[in-house]
Amino acid sequence: MNFGVDCGMFPLGSCTMKYNPKVSERLGRNRGLINAHPHQPEESVQGLLEILYNLSQMLAEITGTDKVSLAPAAGAQGEFVGALIMRAYIRDKGELETRDEMLVPDSAHGTNPASAAMAGFKVVKVPSNREGQVDIESVKEKVSERTAGMMLTVPNTLGLFERNIIEITRLVHDAGGLMYYDGANMNALLGRVRAGDMGFDIVHINVHKTFSTPHGGGGPGAGPVGVVSKLADYLPIPTVERRSRGYYLNYVLAKSIGRVKGFHGNIGVLLRAYVYISMLGSGGLKKVSEQSVLASNYLLKQLDQNAYSLPYAESTPRKHEFVVSCQPLKDKAGVRTMEIAKSLLDEGVHAPTTYFPLIVDEALMVEPTETEPFENLDQYANILNQTARAALTDPVARLRITNAPNNTAVSKLDEVKASHPATLVLNWRKIPKL
Ligand SMILES: *Cc1c(COP(=O)(O)O)cnc(C)c1O
Repeated sequence: MNFGVDCGMFPLGSCTMKYNPKVSERLGRNRGLINAHPHQPEESVQGLLEILYNLSQMLAEITGTDKVSLAPAAGAQGEFVGALIMRAYIRDKGELETRDEMLVPDSAHGTNPASAAMAGFKVVKVPSNREGQVDIESVKEKVSERTAGMMLTVPNTLGLFERNIIEITRLVHDAGGLMYYDGANMNALLGRVRAGDMGFDIVHINVHKTFSTPHGGGGPGAGPVGVVSKLADYLPIPTVERRSRGYYLNYVLAKSIGRVKGFHGNIGVLLRAYVYISMLGSGGLKKVSEQSVLASNYLLKQLDQNAYSLPYAESTPRKHEFVVSCQPLKDKAGVRTMEIAKSLLDEGVHAPTTYFPLIVDEALMVEPTETEPFENLDQYANILNQTARAALTDPVARLRITNAPNNTAVSKLDEVKASHPATLVLNWRKIPKL
């Protein structure tokens, strides 16, 4: 009854459900490492600290930043940390009263405006232009002496690389703001471009996505944050450092925003990332970006455009993921994205992300990842196309699709009821017969 990346494709856009190598699992569960106690003296955990130190160096190299904190437990927490660092930096410049706006494109991940708001900023939305890129004219209008910074998801949630990054970073920097890079999904850009080289000041990476840890069902994760040198003293404590006598945890960072996580971060996830990066090396990481982009464009090209239209079609290629719209199916057959997604479950495959990003109606967001062989991509495209053809031509099949899922252990769920406190049942119990 269960489904995971070992059973087949898991093309959940924005989530990067790539195959998690079993060797990372085995090494990540090394008993000498996972049985270490967080209160153990530093001398007795030098090996573990060395791994964490090396990982932070690797992530600094990959992102083009000067110093990395491994503490944040997830991407969203990495963003929150980044926004708090911005706030502390602005406070130290004596501008906290006047600099309170965070620019966020409408194609950003939903956690971006949430993190900015939690850190006390006013969110200023920047629209996308007709190519699905940040509208540079709008950035010019909205950037001002009130701008604390701008958060950019790269590639954006349409799977597009922002072409005007250099100009955007210049505009925001000239106004005295900082640039934040949401690097949750770095699959497409590994070894190609680095956030630091493009002028970003703060970056987070979702190591559970890009560097593979099983994270279905909401965790576990880790969202390390890298910063440029002028922000290094603001990172959360502790950071892992090296001195002549060995490795140690540094709790005395001059301007640190403080602690964000119990003990030293989600060590298990960080260990898996270390294994994954060490195993692939820089050449392997470059291959990841090449193949993730190839896989996504290969799959996209096979989809029937009469059923799945491509918004912002003139912007190609897509990066590691793409977004199509099931609007043609809705118009011609009255079948909605959610119904297509549910009927994919009947075919024994996992559905893509639905109804995200919000700037595309009837969105289907597909991220095949670099670990899928072409046979799987072909099969997935066939299933999507056959489902669409059935919806368009066969009234009986259409009814099956709108009632889907029909073959799963649990049929269509009432999603409103499922999240309503009065009816939500969180543990198993025998339901009395009425
Ligand atoms: C997944 C994701 C996040 C949030 O990461 P979590 O680890 O789920 O908190 C933020 N931004 C982007 C672009 C993402 O894809």
